[in-house]
Amino acid sequence: MYIVQIASECAPVIKAGGLGDVVYGLSRELENRGNTVELILPMYDCMRYDHIWGLHEAYQDLWVPWYDAAIHCTVFCGWVHGRLCFFIEPHSQDNFFHRGHYYGDKDDNMRFAFFSKAALEFLQQSNKRPDVIHCHDWQTGLIPVLLYEIYQHHGMGTQRVCYTIHNFKHQGQSGVDILWATGLNNEAYYFDYDRLQDNFNPFAINLMKGGIVYSNYVNTVSPHHAWEARFTDIGYGLGHTLEIHQNKFGGILNGLDYEMWNPAADPYIPHAYTADSLEEKAKNKQALRERLLLQDNDRPLVAFIGRLDDQKGVHLVRHSIYYALHKGAQFVLLGSATEPGINAQFWHEKQYLNDNPNCHLELGYNEELSHLIYAAADIIIVPSNYEPCGLTQMIGMRYGAVPVVRGVGGLVSTVFDWDYDPDHSEEERNGFVFYQSDYRALESAMERAIDLWKYAPEKFEMLATQGMKADYSWKQSGENYLGVYEYIRCK
Ligand code: ADP
Repeated sequence: MYIVQIASECAPVIKAGGLGDVVYGLSRELENRGNTVELILPMYDCMRYDHIWGLHEAYQDLWVPWYDAAIHCTVFCGWVHGRLCFFIEPHSQDNFFHRGHYYGDKDDNMRFAFFSKAALEFLQQSNKRPDVIHCHDWQTGLIPVLLYEIYQHHGMGTQRVCYTIHNFKHQGQSGVDILWATGLNNEAYYFDYDRLQDNFNPFAINLMKGGIVYSNYVNTVSPHHAWEARFTDIGYGLGHTLEIHQNKFGGILNGLDYEMWNPAADPYIPHAYTADSLEEKAKNKQALRERLLLQDNDRPLVAFIGRLDDQKGVHLVRHSIYYALHKGAQFVLLGSATEPGINAQFWHEKQYLNDNPNCHLELGYNEELSHLIYAAADIIIVPSNYEPCGLTQMIGMRYGAVPVVRGVGGLVSTVFDWDYDPDHSEEERNGFVFYQSDYRALESAMERAIDLWKYAPEKFEMLATQGMKADYSWKQSGENYLGVYEYIRCK
């Protein structure tokens, strides 16, 4: 099958979070299964060019209709760790992708509406006719809309779209100008509850809603989150739309790229190890301590890695630092905040804890350091308010760090409580789960984890090993996506 992935991220060249990991990992899995996969991405100025091989101009004269004129683009082509990627570079005063960051601008909706239009225009003009176009999150929600309303009448009548929602919080609510810019034009037609009109703001169109309405199949990234999105307020207002389109909506658990995340062959950690050589993992803990100037002592290392965002339960992240220290553990945090209030709060904590030899807060984004922290940590903490799938708990387990998580979304499908899980045998259990979003619940789960490390180390090691041996690779998820593609493709 010929599949084209269109997304705003692809790890490790463009990565702000789990979306990048998923786009890369799924593409590799699909290719390993004998499919042809190509990726279309924006050409950001700030992406990691050192992860692209053989970058060259592939298509010089792509003219993308935009309002009443057209924007000239160049399409570059290169390989990102074996994946064939096309990067779209527009030449216009808008400087859509030359901002020094991926997201966070006032005109984000316009930037990615342009990207969606340009991606389809590229497919159309270069005569690429994939069986399935797989697009991701609000940034590419317009793709199925444009395909159905415009491009199917220009030789793209047999392409089918799978649309994956990684986070319902950001939906791309936009003004009418997007319709005029992309050539959809007909305001009265699109401002309709059954089409693009936002479910709560009658004066806005909603790009993610467009993706849901117009795609052939829609999914979010775990079965439990699919349920949450439909039946709780976690769908951020799209629950009713999902209800209407329930026959083409489901949940597919993300996988983890087992080559990119592999403690036995990870270039970013000094000591390779497997489930049978955990003593080597201990050396990585020592290496991290040296790097971060932490005390070398007999304490468990608790870690948090993630965006410092309301979604991640920042009040519990903050509390977990102090509770870990109170329980005689060490704590390492690697996180970045885009919201100024949260950023200021964690800078304050960092200054306050600066001289503590058992704590280090690293504020910023650092891919290489994240690998070393996973390899060094005994416990990884994920106290999210909501979590569509969550990769950090899976990466943690792959590296022998025992997860302590809040029982929401994909965390429910991947972490099984050591003491209480009624549905999984002792051999299948792999972490600690709490449910309420309060300090007491967090403390009780952390206490159980830290005490097991202190007072029953052989059991703790068994738990860590069970996590390492469980299979969270793309194997099953890749098969599930292929099943969806087969189902929707035009036969
Ligand atoms: P989300 O997609 O909501 O950000 P996920 O758990 O699905 O969360 O994926 C997060 C990914 O981003 C993981 O690969 C994690 O290691 C990585 N990550 C998050 N924050 C940072 C950071 N500050 N530095 C390095 N990697 C990070």
